Amino acid sequence: MRYPESRQRSAELLRLVVARMGEHDAALNPLTYAVWYEHLAGINARLSRAMDALLVNGKRFDDAAIEALHAQYVAAADEATAERVSRDFVRVMHELADTAARTGSSAAELGSKLGALDQVLQKGDEASLGAPVGEALASTGKLRSAVDALQTQVAASEREIDRLRAELERTREEAAVCPLTRVLNRKGFDQQLQALLAKAAESPKPGCLIMVDVDHFKQVNDTHGHVLGDRVLTGLGELLRSAATDAGAVAARYGGEEFALLVPNCGLGAAVKLAESVREQAKQLRVRQRSSDRQILTITVSAGVAEVCASDDEASLVARADAALYQSKRNGRDRVTTA
Ligand code: GH3
Ligand code: MG
Ligand code: MG
Repeated sequence: MRYPESRQRSAELLRLVVARMGEHDAALNPLTYAVWYEHLAGINARLSRAMDALLVNGKRFDDAAIEALHAQYVAAADEATAERVSRDFVRVMHELADTAARTGSSAAELGSKLGALDQVLQKGDEASLGAPVGEALASTGKLRSAVDALQTQVAASEREIDRLRAELERTREEAAVCPLTRVLNRKGFDQQLQALLAKAAESPKPGCLIMVDVDHFKQVNDTHGHVLGDRVLTGLGELLRSAATDAGAVAARYGGEEFALLVPNCGLGAAVKLAESVREQAKQLRVRQRSSDRQILTITVSAGVAEVCASDDEASLVARADAALYQSKRNGRDRVTTA
């Protein structure tokens, strides 16, 4: 039990999740369920922003899109923290259930005392009324304090659940995402690279790794300063994230001004198209001076594309994509080269 809900609310949510899953093309499996659940339950703000942006454009989610969303926004939580938080959820719910059970037994006790009182009344034996009335009153008092305790506990549990949810969300954001560019950081890249290789064997197409590096970025820093350099990286991160989500890929910052797109179930030709589209869009990236709104710089990027082959491990795949990238640099930059 990860996200406790009232029974009625969880039933409504479940119906909504199943209905939405049915409107899209992705397989009805736990991965798809998790993505839709977290979106519709309103507990994963970044995921919801990404999904809303795609849904506005009439996007239908297929397996690749769901896997990309899952990798980027759901699975990125640091596992140890996610496990601890979910254990804490269970503890809070057990405490609540215990208090509710105690309230229930106080109510049952009151019920039996009232039953005894009723029997005395039916017999019309007024002389022996004193004891049952006293006992019923005592039970009423007990029930009142049990209900008070339950109310206090419910309020405390709600607060704690809110806190745990916020913590889980923060962990997700921090664990594998670069704060400047909002794409996966190096740790996230490493995890997704492993996943890309693992998927290669099972998918109809092998999958590709695209490495993207900003051309002459040192000059950008030298001419315009690091603050503007950082804004270039933020803009490029945004561009890569949306290109990735559209293509069922995952974007990551490999290091410095070098980025990667991991594209599962994709052949070399489609990956080159994606890299070319990123290269074109990067040229359109407009970095303006905030004070004057004057556009002060444009950038170009170079890319290298490698398709996963049977003998690849993580290192060899990165080395081939990187070699292709440096071929792009040697050939004059602002271009895409295949390994
Ligand atoms: P090339 O076209 O060959 O890639 O040239 P380059 O200048 O882009 O490559 P080089 O490796 O010489 O320089 C990369 C620069 O990127 C140097 C470093 O200061 C800058 N850089 C790395 N990370 C960041 C960052 O987070 N913010 C800023 N502003 N600059 C960064
Ligand atoms: Mg560079
Ligand atoms: Mg570089």
